[in-house]
Amino acid sequence: MISNEIISQFKAALGENSVVNDETDLSRHSHDASSHPSQMPGLVLYPVNTQQVAKCLKIASDNRLPVTPCGKLTSLEGNSVPQAGGIVLDLSSMKKIIKVYPDDFQVIVEPGIVGEALNQELAKYHLYFPAFPASSHIASIGGMIANNAGGMYAVKYGVVGDWVMALEVVLACGEIIKVGSRSIKSVAGFDLKSLLVGSEGTLGIITQATLKLIPVITQKFLIKVCFPLVKQSVAATLSILLSNLEPGAIEFLDASSIKHINHYKSLRWNEEATLLIELHGEEKEMKARAERIRKLCQKENYTSFLLAQTQEEMKKIWEGRKAVHPAVMASAPNLALVPGDVGVPISRIPDFMEWVEKVQKESGLTMATFGHVGDGNFHVWITYDRTIPDGLQKAKVAAGKIVEQALWLGGTCTAEHGVGIGKRDFLLQEHGDTIELMKKIKNVFDPLGILNPGKIFA
Ligand SMILES: Cc1cc2nc3c(=O)[nH]c(=O)nc-3n(C[C@H](O)[C@H](O)[C@H](O)COP(=O)(O)OP(=O)(O)OC[C@H]3O[C@@H](n4cnc5c(N)ncnc54)[C@H](O)[C@@H]3O)c2cc1C
Repeated sequence: MISNEIISQFKAALGENSVVNDETDLSRHSHDASSHPSQMPGLVLYPVNTQQVAKCLKIASDNRLPVTPCGKLTSLEGNSVPQAGGIVLDLSSMKKIIKVYPDDFQVIVEPGIVGEALNQELAKYHLYFPAFPASSHIASIGGMIANNAGGMYAVKYGVVGDWVMALEVVLACGEIIKVGSRSIKSVAGFDLKSLLVGSEGTLGIITQATLKLIPVITQKFLIKVCFPLVKQSVAATLSILLSNLEPGAIEFLDASSIKHINHYKSLRWNEEATLLIELHGEEKEMKARAERIRKLCQKENYTSFLLAQTQEEMKKIWEGRKAVHPAVMASAPNLALVPGDVGVPISRIPDFMEWVEKVQKESGLTMATFGHVGDGNFHVWITYDRTIPDGLQKAKVAAGKIVEQALWLGGTCTAEHGVGIGKRDFLLQEHGDTIELMKKIKNVFDPLGILNPGKIFA
């Protein structure tokens, strides 16, 4: 229980209306987009600038109160589920674009701005941030940096962290620090910026970010190609990747994902293993590449091959792809999800996919597999009925088998969603004793352990 005296201190720092403890607001901040159990916070704070964030953390550390920062609460591993009775620091009101440097291809932003809103503003300068996740329309830049999110274009442009040049961060004690540089190259000391990227709110609060940009991609070409078998789509992916065709995206959807999308969006896509391949560049060259891709896919006996002809057609296809998550969640009453997010070296994708099919058959569970096949990052969405007593347990066992296989193949337990709560148990398996060093680093940044406790480490 947070005392009235502490609440008064927060109100003096932020103003009356930015310190909230009504039931609706607490409840909205008690969970993220994962199925991890809700935890009711004691207070939600809405700072509007860095100084206010610093004051909040000073009060929190003086009183040893746990603080969970959040952006738009779309995490899928419990990353932004708060400590029961603790504080949520909601950064969504800090959403200004502070400065655009068109000549340097850079922008400085506050953390609360939503990805797509940023790109809409940047379009006025003919600039673009290329590394957004599929949730860019609903997720904040701060959350994306803190989770080091990745997306459809990661195969060509990398993940969010690859585009972060510098950060302003408030430490647990309330001290404000700056890390990184606007210089394209910098080797001045330890790379603390990269340490903070992906730290899931456990090391500090990001209050400003300097991002690298590219010119707007004006020419995009999208291919949708279907195969009778998953292994054919995977073989086609590997041939494309090995043929120097530089796709901007290669996304995979299995028949189950497509069934969900068809139902949810009233579409009639072939219910087969499907690849979405996007090419970026000058029309003549890209059309030639599309034809080379068609020939590579033909070797794997595709059943349909479509090169989208209009912007509208491309938009519809991408909207279908982005609908997998809501489509699965809407597919049955009482449904809950154990979301999978693993990465494997691309040469091991065929072994991994074979394993997923085996686990699915053996478990009899409903699964939908989709993701960023071009960089070996797969999402296996395992759903279960919450009203069945051992539903969660069965889903967790199957999910565990999939993660363990990814690790065995030389991969990772989380390629983009972060560790949060859901992947904590796999961290030891992936990193061994190195996690003791990670814990020591956490202790240097946050000696009282108040920042997003229980995330990454139990
Ligand atoms: C439909 C759907 C599709 C998705 N697709 C993708 C995808 O393609 N790729 C992908 O990587 N993820 C995806 N996600 C997961 C999620 O959207 C991303 O991880 C996203 O980056 C989270 O942003 P957010 O604003 O919701 O952050 P939140 O969930 O609010 O927070 C995320 C983490 O960052 C911390 N945090 C938030 N703000 C700050 C800050 N300012 N300073 C320090 N720490 C902070 C939080 O404590 C938490 O640990 C998807 C989720 C959904 C629901």
